[in-house]
Amino acid sequence: MQLDEIKQRLRLLGAKPCHERYLLRNWLHVRPLGSGRGWHKYLPPKQLCAALPAIEMELKSLARLHSKDVGEGEGTRLLIKLEDEQIVESVLLPRRSLCVSTQIGCAVGCLFCMTGKEGLLRQLSSAEIVAQVVLARSLREVKNVVFMGMGEPAHNLDNVLEAIDLLGTLGGIGHKRLIISSVGDRQMFERLPQGPVKPALALSLHTTSAALRRKLLPQAPAIDPVELVGLSEGYARAIGYPIQYQWTLLQGVNDSEEELKNIVKLLKGKYAILNLIPYNKISGLGFNRPSWEHAEAMARYLNQRGIFTKLRDSVGQDIDGGCGQLRARVVEEME
Ligand code: SF4
Repeated sequence: MQLDEIKQRLRLLGAKPCHERYLLRNWLHVRPLGSGRGWHKYLPPKQLCAALPAIEMELKSLARLHSKDVGEGEGTRLLIKLEDEQIVESVLLPRRSLCVSTQIGCAVGCLFCMTGKEGLLRQLSSAEIVAQVVLARSLREVKNVVFMGMGEPAHNLDNVLEAIDLLGTLGGIGHKRLIISSVGDRQMFERLPQGPVKPALALSLHTTSAALRRKLLPQAPAIDPVELVGLSEGYARAIGYPIQYQWTLLQGVNDSEEELKNIVKLLKGKYAILNLIPYNKISGLGFNRPSWEHAEAMARYLNQRGIFTKLRDSVGQDIDGGCGQLRARVVEEME
């Protein structure tokens, strides 16, 4: 079910815009739909009131908690069952943050990712994306939402942007507290600045080499890192908060001195934060994690040359779904 279908349904039951806003806000804040002193003040039509229990049930069935897995790190993985019994992952993160999925599976096919290996099974609807937030809010407060779970948000852009608009308005989440994570896509760069809610952007860069990037992220749009950084910089300046470049550190692949020199050339003077995230090894994929000392030396080298770099350890070493390795405290920077 899409958010538009929910709105349409309410309208068919006689809801005016004030009723629609009231009901959606209650849903987003985990309150019974027709509750609160204000509701009857708006004189809702009888048939709308009568339909609310059924609508409430339907909204609940969009995302149901299947299991909760407290990781060894700071993340708590929620496995969420959707209406068609498919399972997606959301992760409760520190600082009242939540990481949500946008697709079941992912078509980008990053060589170092398990989700990428499985390919895309289906898109999540805008309502299913929002329902992950509602479910998490029924467990605890959520003030930041990171679109960094299973899937590539740019490959499900209409639904992701619709969800972002609702969360950033009636959902009460500040624009820069909504963080979209992407491998980069021209259409996304065109549309993000046009929306009423302007999320922060975490861009998965991983290398300065166009050829290596094509190899590591085989189905990502073929945009040269120089162009990607140019597009990202334009968006950062337009919204007034920096881009977070995500760099999964893979031993012997993208942790060389040459990469370091090229990062300095590429990111010098940019409104950006570079997050170096040593890879959490997934057996069978053939990539290794560099030593922490080596990663520290890389971060030091870059900081000394004016590239604002943070070395991050992935939240929840034992939780490795999707782009999840990248989510290491990305919200901290937007506080
Ligand atoms: S790392 Fe992210 S973009 Fe790449 S395949 Fe995995 S889920 Fe998709």
